[in-house]
This record gives sequence, C-alpha cells and structure tokens, in this order.
Amino acid sequence: MLLNPMSRLKIPPKGEAELKPKHLHEYMRSSGSKNIYRCMDPDCTHYQQKEFLVGKRAICHKCKNDMILTKDQLKNRIPSCMNCSKSRAAKRVKDVRNFLAEILPQEAR
Ligand SMILES: [Zn+2]
Ligand SMILES: [Zn+2]
Repeated sequence: MLLNPMSRLKIPPKGEAELKPKHLHEYMRSSGSKNIYRCMDPDCTHYQQKEFLVGKRAICHKCKNDMILTKDQLKNRIPSCMNCSKSRAAKRVKDVRNFLAEILPQEAR
C-alpha cells in the first residue's frame, strides 16, 4: 500500500496563534545580564536584547501607559515612560536651581 505520509499531516487552522491575548511587554533588566531585558508578566517568557528594544513599544512600569523605548530609558533597570521620567528629571532641575540660588552670591549669577 502506497500512502503518501504527507497526506496524513493535518495543517493547523491559521489564526490559532492570533487568538492568544497579546500584550505589550513591561520590561525589566535581567539580573543575569546587563544587556537583556525581560517581560515582568508572570505568564510571559519574552526577553530581548537591549539594543533591539530601542524604538519598541512597551508598558511603563509606573503609569502602565504604553511608550516607545529609547536608549535613555534603557539605562534604567526598569524603563519608565517620558512623562514619568520627565517629571522626575524636571523636579530635580528645579531643586538644583533653588539650591544654587541659595548658595550663590548675587554677583556670580
Ligand atoms: Zn510580555
Ligand atoms: Zn509612565
């Protein structure tokens, strides 16, 4: 009996993989490698090299909004979005300005 073994293979219906809920990954730097970031989702095993994450969409750890990762954000162990990191940086600049205003004599400004 000559049966083509290929004919018994069932082709899985297309689109099955697409039914899985997609999510944007929430990244955290791996403890094992400085250049690897992994997703914090307990059900997600996704991880990616830092250099490939620049320009990718991800979830901000702080506000849970989506964001595009930049090199600067990837300097942090847990990247946060522009809004979250900007407000922090802006506050720091203000603090430094106030501090300088206090210690600098008038003529030095
Ligand atoms: Zn994920
Ligand atoms: Zn944020």
